[in-house]
Amino acid sequence: MGNIALVTGASRGIGRGIALELARRGWDVCVNYRQQAQAAGETVSAIRALGRKALAVQADVADSKAVSDMACQAEAALGPVSLLVNNAGIAGQELFQDLTDAQWDRYLAVNLTGARNAIQAVLPRMISEKRGCIVNISSIWGLRGASCEVAYACTKAALIGLTRSLALELAPSGIRVNCVAPGVIDTDMVRGLRPETRAMLVEETPLGRLGTPADVAYAVAFLASDEAGFLTGQVLGADGGFIV
Ligand code: NAP
Repeated sequence: MGNIALVTGASRGIGRGIALELARRGWDVCVNYRQQAQAAGETVSAIRALGRKALAVQADVADSKAVSDMACQAEAALGPVSLLVNNAGIAGQELFQDLTDAQWDRYLAVNLTGARNAIQAVLPRMISEKRGCIVNISSIWGLRGASCEVAYACTKAALIGLTRSLALELAPSGIRVNCVAPGVIDTDMVRGLRPETRAMLVEETPLGRLGTPADVAYAVAFLASDEAGFLTGQVLGADGGFIV
């Protein structure tokens, strides 16, 4: 089994940062995206420029059939996936009272069921190889709770539960499952926030700045490395000290 990674939501933002850092460390990468094909193509070109193999695969992580087909495409082009990074996610702000059925269902479908779909798609091969690594991208809001982001925070807290339980279930198969909980990271997801909200978040972050995709990518790359071979079921904060 080679060093083949599947990173969901890798067309831009944190996912792109993770895909590029993994490529720098010798991983070939399947770059998943939902809509932005051009951005995904740019991630693929950047990985190839680093001398690694890459391909972009469109799939909505909420669609289990599409995700299973994606895992097959990744295996056919690159080889069996030995590292899965569940990064794809959606966020938004609304009062809990205003949250519609459709919004609630979509947060769960993408942020939580999406991770489940991707894990189930790659797990049979990992189990048969007795080797594999899964990293879920949670959030400080899943650890601490977030006003006006209740649904989002619920999905991110659930990813921590998924990580811990699955780590126990898969440890006998030699598969490690860990989680990174980023702080506020400067991507499209937070660029829509009002300037005063961003400034407040910087102030709340002890290290005094927003994070970058690379800050999260280094944490993921560490958890995926042999140096983290005795770590499973852990939640690693990449948050500038936001939660201490
Ligand atoms: P982003 O800039 O909005 O990028 C989102 C990525 O996810 C894009 O690649 C997008 O693909 C993909 N995506 C969205 N829905 C998808 C779906 N249904 N199926 C497949 N791909 C999908 O977000 P980000 O800030 O990089 O966040 C990445 C992850 O980190 C998320 O899970 C987020 O919750 C978490 N996080 C972010 C922050 C932060 O402050 N930014 C903090 C903590 C945790 P397209 O380009 O095709 O749309």
